[in-house]
Amino acid sequence: MADLQQVPSKMCGCPDCLIDFPPEQHGHRPPQTDGCRGPWRLVFRTADRRWRSKTFPTLSGAHQFRAQLADGGRHAA
Ligand SMILES: [Zn+2]
Repeated sequence: MADLQQVPSKMCGCPDCLIDFPPEQHGHRPPQTDGCRGPWRLVFRTADRRWRSKTFPTLSGAHQFRAQLADGGRHAA
């Protein structure tokens, strides 16, 4: 199993990120109205049953990696 979640970014101006990283402390950025621009973090289990996490700049990158995990990691680049 793998768990995918978006991580707030101080470069992002969506409402959630403005709460997590107030502009007064992290610098002003334009409001982000079409969704969060933060990276995606995938928490997954390796073949030896350890939990690991990996961060991806894009959702499609995370999906790609997760698809490889589903393959048993045999197609990992
Ligand atoms: Zn955001």
